[in-house]
Amino acid sequence: KYRLEAQERRKIFNKMLTMQGRLRVMARIRPLEMKEGGGGGQRCLSIAPGGDTIMLDFDHNGAHKFRFDKVFSHLPNAHSDTEHGIAEQVLPLALSAMDGYNVCIFAYGQTGSGKTHTMKALTSIICRKLFSSREGFKSKVSVSYTEIYNNEVRDLLRNPKDDHGRSEWGRVDKIDHNVPSLDVRTNSDGKVEVNSISVRITCAEEVEDLVRRGTEIRSTFSTDLNKHSSRSHALLTITCEVENEWAGLKYCGKLNLVDLAGSERLSRSNTEGDRLKETQFINTSLAALGNVMSALAKDQAYIPYRDSKLTMLLSESLSGNSKVLMMTCIKEGTEEASETLCSLQFGARAKRVKLGEAKKNVVGKVEEATATATATAAGGSNGDG
Ligand code: ADP
Ligand code: MG
Repeated sequence: KYRLEAQERRKIFNKMLTMQGRLRVMARIRPLEMKEGGGGGQRCLSIAPGGDTIMLDFDHNGAHKFRFDKVFSHLPNAHSDTEHGIAEQVLPLALSAMDGYNVCIFAYGQTGSGKTHTMKALTSIICRKLFSSREGFKSKVSVSYTEIYNNEVRDLLRNPKDDHGRSEWGRVDKIDHNVPSLDVRTNSDGKVEVNSISVRITCAEEVEDLVRRGTEIRSTFSTDLNKHSSRSHALLTITCEVENEWAGLKYCGKLNLVDLAGSERLSRSNTEGDRLKETQFINTSLAALGNVMSALAKDQAYIPYRDSKLTMLLSESLSGNSKVLMMTCIKEGTEEASETLCSLQFGARAKRVKLGEAKKNVVGKVEEATATATATAAGGSNGDG
């Protein structure tokens, strides 16, 4: 019995070792829309036994296979697609921001594949857990929320003004080109900084509320593919400053939750004019993200972070000392097979990215007077991998 237990433990330990130092890539399959009359259309995807390999039947040309860290879907063999099933896999990584790690989770995929849906659910689950697990710790949590639209960074926590100059939140159906963009600069430590609004937060509901209001003024537009197609990348940053009395240190972790704009190629969304320009900016920035990943995968000395605002803002998250998870969102219908293939290939490329060992960010020492009082609360979340 003991030998079996030891074997089991070694298996888990080995698995953790192989996860370390690598960008984690998971996939989520959005179920087919039920068409009028009941039928759900044809599917081009299946999951191999074991649950981590997606098989894509492209043009009946045999299956392309893609292996990920986890695949969430309603399909047989896959991991449970419930929000809590996903949270179980994602929470240990996300909550390690409380221990002072930099964490980045981003959703990649074509418009309508479930990126916003997934990130919204993850944000609320993570925030709830974050606030319930920090009880007993001295901590400060703050949030900023920005979007990158046409390679300009805009603040989603700004208060939009109505015609009379009063501040008012509300749905903005057209894109406001008069909103000033934020400055992105590199500070003396080589870190990229943005002058966005940062709001101190005390409970999960406050984050959800800010995200809901911020998302209302995000640049969206109707395309043929989606009624509220996101034309921008949205970046929610949750900064946690925690005092660890046991270690006598103050840590500062940053959790970036990124909802990328749709990755579909130009012809798909029937675009012209402003939409065409946006699509080109989206494609350029996603290509820049792909190039950064390729350079990281090849361990190159020069990583082209400066090629787009997206990669500049993610440079700290993608520079080695962070934990990164990519959620590749895909659709399962046969008519989506070529976009799905592109997304799966992007995921496969991300999986080859090597990151350095994640390190906690120490920002100071705990004052003597408070150091003994709650020493037992030390330890923190388990910070998997
Ligand atoms: P994206 O942000 O990738 O463009 P959305 O998240 O807006 O896509 O999803 C498009 C639509 O599909 C939304 O109406 C959303 O509620 C629905 N949807 C997405 N993912 C799922 C899912 N896993 N299960 C059920 N409905 C989903
Ligand atoms: Mg979206």
